[in-house]
Amino acid sequence: MYAMVQDSTLHLISNRLRAAEMAARNTAGVRLARRREALQSRLASAHEAALVKSQAKVNAQRLRPDNSYSTPDYVLRGYYVDRPFTCRDCGKPQVWTGTQQKWWYETAGGGVWTMATRCRVCRRRERERRDEARRVHREGVAGNKKRSIKTDP
Ligand SMILES: [Zn+2]
Repeated sequence: MYAMVQDSTLHLISNRLRAAEMAARNTAGVRLARRREALQSRLASAHEAALVKSQAKVNAQRLRPDNSYSTPDYVLRGYYVDRPFTCRDCGKPQVWTGTQQKWWYETAGGGVWTMATRCRVCRRRERERRDEARRVHREGVAGNKKRSIKTDP
């Protein structure tokens, strides 16, 4: 009888101990999983930042010369970051990406203080409008020359 009581007491204690161990393990597990998740997301954003830095690194040698006394923020920073802006014509929110900026400043020779003002669609429309105005102007000039040749004695 005594042995049975002792047995069941031991059983009870060992059950409680197992439950406590499992709870501890679960708590530790949850904490570990959370920590792993946090580290993974930090790693992902560090990776992303490194990628942005390597893809949109500023090469100051390629920038158009500028004799202003101040320095653009991207030159100080050393790399381009995406810049949100609103299209001047259609008003749509846009993002001027770091790689687009690199191309603009270092390949297209855009002024170091200039910045995107129009979305792709409006930019194309504006270019066509300008080209057409130029064509009309050229034809006007050519027409005037012809006329002036005719009227010459
Ligand atoms: Zn637009």
